[in-house]
Amino acid sequence: MSETKTDNTQIALVTGASRGIGKAIATALAETGRFVYLNFNSSREKAETVLKEIISNGGKGALLQFDVTNREESETAIQKIISKKGKIDILINNAGIRDDMLMVRMKKENWQSVIDTNLTGFFNVTRLAVKNMLSKRFGRIINVSSTSGQTGQAGQVNYSASKAGLIGATKALAREIAKRNITVNAVAPGFIETEMIDGLPVEEIKKTIPAGRFGTPSEVAATILFLCSKEAGYITGQVIGINGGIL
Ligand code: NAP
Repeated sequence: MSETKTDNTQIALVTGASRGIGKAIATALAETGRFVYLNFNSSREKAETVLKEIISNGGKGALLQFDVTNREESETAIQKIISKKGKIDILINNAGIRDDMLMVRMKKENWQSVIDTNLTGFFNVTRLAVKNMLSKRFGRIINVSSTSGQTGQAGQVNYSASKAGLIGATKALAREIAKRNITVNAVAPGFIETEMIDGLPVEEIKKTIPAGRFGTPSEVAATILFLCSKEAGYITGQVIGINGGIL
């Protein structure tokens, strides 16, 4: 019998699942019975550890290495999922980088790498997945944006632009495919405790957050889990802030 092509298990793909927020999302999706493809780019060992933890807790999943900035690699990966499982029910576009500096010092490559990963990565991964969701008349797409994309952040012209672009893409795509029972939403985390915030002045930043603390990856994952649910079927084109009241 060909693997799980005919059963009802939902198939999910989480980009950037080797650590941080992506790891928490993948773990939460697996804990709720989904088969989860964990994408990573360079952190193979970390991704393997996440998958091992998922499997030892009774979950199901597989690793899928590709670079979201590479269109061919990304589309090949989506095709691989579809040929193995027949569908993608849930797509979480989480992979992201930052490369902060004042714009006057920014070189073209600092701009381009952030746009390529955070925004073009969304296009590279999502297009074929949407095609499949349209044919199945079901889908949940959640894009991980940022407070920085909502307010603009000094020192993050590249990052804010990429995350604001992701919000625009979320809203436009939501309108294109809402009739087919596919929702597209964004979450906009504030400061979340992951490697991405290494090097930031933690105590100073905490004073600016009404909740007085950073958020956790599992708090982001919990919101995403709800957006993936059947009950969230009427929520589309929205941006949900997870930011301790900062905005
Ligand atoms: P993180 O700990 O630095 O993890 C980033 C993840 O993205 C890693 O799994 C990394 O995989 C993956 N990645 C980076 N470039 C990739 C590429 N080209 N192809 C495939 N995967 C790639 O960051 P995080 O804090 O968990 O952030 C996750 C998302 O949340 C990002 O989109 C980020 O912008 C957003 N966010 C974070 C915060 C925060 O405070 N932490 C706030 C707002 C929004 P490899 O290591 O394998 O390359």
